[in-house]
Amino acid sequence: MDNAATRLAEVHANIARVCKPARREAGDVTLIAVSKTHGPEAIQPLIDAGQRVFGENRVQEALVKWPALKAAHPDIELHLIGQLQSNKAEEAVALFDCIHSLDRPSLLAALAKAMDKAGRKVPCFVQVNIGDEPQKGGCSVAELPAFLAAVRATEIPLAGLMCIPPADTEAAPFFAFLAKLAADHGLEGLSMGMSGDYETAVMLGATHVRVGTALFGQRDGARG
Ligand SMILES: *Cc1c(COP(=O)(O)O)cnc(C)c1O
Repeated sequence: MDNAATRLAEVHANIARVCKPARREAGDVTLIAVSKTHGPEAIQPLIDAGQRVFGENRVQEALVKWPALKAAHPDIELHLIGQLQSNKAEEAVALFDCIHSLDRPSLLAALAKAMDKAGRKVPCFVQVNIGDEPQKGGCSVAELPAFLAAVRATEIPLAGLMCIPPADTEAAPFFAFLAKLAADHGLEGLSMGMSGDYETAVMLGATHVRVGTALFGQRDGARG
């Protein structure tokens, strides 16, 4: 049977399977169900199946869907995994419980100010442009040490590092590189791995995997 509960159990089983040889505990890997482009009717079955951590990539879309779902299920954790414009920092801080796309000084300043104003500290992953792709978001590897120092000079809780490796290439070397960067900087959180490569990411140390298609099926829109 191909329903949400079955797919969720499969993903959990796959994570547990690769944790074993990697000598990791499956409980140390947080599965983020990426619900972008999917409506409440697709999300509810996963909530019913016990999933409590969800990810969205757009603030506006999340604002439409999540306030009601969060009110009905206060134990849900909502993660922002997509790029964030500084002018949406206040809305993001109010709605999300974790942000994976902190990648530049202007956004750092906006988030620090928004968190101060809201009296709410939202943990942030620093997104690294691990493949050095000009069109992609993320702090460059070269600028990472200075940027991490800038984040640590604020009160924003630093959750770890996040990456989206280049498309259509082997992801493993990029995951391994991100894990090394995190270790070099004394960070434990590693947000890496999507539907096509979350098992590889877990083997290489991912603490947070962001899985959409494998849980929800193909997306309706082509929005990435
Ligand atoms: C959409 C998205 C995902 C999930 O992708 P799937 O391939 O559907 O699992 C993960 N991370 C980010 C940043 C995304 O935008």
